[in-house]
Amino acid sequence: MAEETLPYGRQSLDDEDIQAVVDVLKSENLTQGPAIGRFEKAVSEWCGAKHGIAMANGTATLHLAAKAMGLKHGDWLWTSPITFVASANAGRYCGASVDFVDVDPGTINLCPERLAAKLEIAEKEGKLPKIVVPVHFAGQSCDMERIHALSQKYGFRIIEDGAHALGGNYQGERIGNCRWSDVVSHSFHPVKIVTSGEGGMITTNDDELAWHIGMLRMHGITRDADRMIGESDGPWYYQQLELGYNFRMTDLQAALGASQMNKLDAFATRRREIANLYDQALAELPLRPLARDPKGISGWHLYMIRLNLKEITRTRRQVFESLRAQGIGVNVHYIPVHLQPDYMKLGFKAGMFPEAERYYEECITLPMFPAMTNEDIVRVRKALVVATGG
Ligand SMILES: *Cc1c(COP(=O)(O)O)cnc(C)c1O
Repeated sequence: MAEETLPYGRQSLDDEDIQAVVDVLKSENLTQGPAIGRFEKAVSEWCGAKHGIAMANGTATLHLAAKAMGLKHGDWLWTSPITFVASANAGRYCGASVDFVDVDPGTINLCPERLAAKLEIAEKEGKLPKIVVPVHFAGQSCDMERIHALSQKYGFRIIEDGAHALGGNYQGERIGNCRWSDVVSHSFHPVKIVTSGEGGMITTNDDELAWHIGMLRMHGITRDADRMIGESDGPWYYQQLELGYNFRMTDLQAALGASQMNKLDAFATRRREIANLYDQALAELPLRPLARDPKGISGWHLYMIRLNLKEITRTRRQVFESLRAQGIGVNVHYIPVHLQPDYMKLGFKAGMFPEAERYYEECITLPMFPAMTNEDIVRVRKALVVATGG
């Protein structure tokens, strides 16, 4: 009998999680009830940040954080070319222009030296970015202290894209605490570290940004009399101060997310174990993992390998297809954003970000989720031996 396909990522839900959602279904409020506050508190306290602002998805958090920072037509947002399209699209939703900074060839995180060099040129051309979005690729923190130092020198703001990174740390502090940034964006899509079905959150220590993002999430409406233009008409009154959106999360989702947060430590520990087991199991194969930065511990959303294509007679595509045929649900993260047709229309071309493009040619994402067994890792190894022609 054929074995079940091992997916590249999968949520881990238990009876507690299910009961938490059922409890909301039996309650008064399906949205804007108490579960939102519980989830916001659970994430912000875990990260060590002052505020948590829950939203419909991670993409919405990136968009509204950028908008609250005043990003608009004529401004620039820079991010990594190796990320999900959402990190870059956030800038375009605000009407701004987007550019990329090539990745470090070891960690595949936004490279601080390349950022410094690009900033120097941009300053001369009068095209400095208003916002830089470092993406903690696969869960490993970017070198935030250096990126932060550059933000002080050149006056840009920082949105950390932490969609992969909840549970990880940098310099001994939890990712999400905003020590080196204005805000951190989180995603709770089912393949991410903890899930709320769909969902996202901003963590921040900035009171004004927290208020502003919260207002934009709610149509740009406030019920706070102190924030209103003129006097309040009465208890029913609200004012739209700015064009916002309905990007709220439901209580069903927040209850699931809050319940999942109770397991974050256990999930992070198991993900770390799996990564270490993979490192050992695959050490002799014609491939290599991403470089580990000793400054932090990855949240291990994903585990990627890079094929040593010169040592094998197979192409990446052949290896990928062989793994899929053997029931290993591999994936590729990511197609460089600048090579997407919708970005090439803006003038981006192949060759512009060579480290990102080289990485893309040889990367494969292996299964990684807390419920994976040690036998699953042995199964992946065996399949890789076959797939690489060994
Ligand atoms: C998942 C993800 C997001 C946001 O995704 P949503 O599906 O909108 O929650 C943003 N950036 C990266 C790098 C991601 O992986």
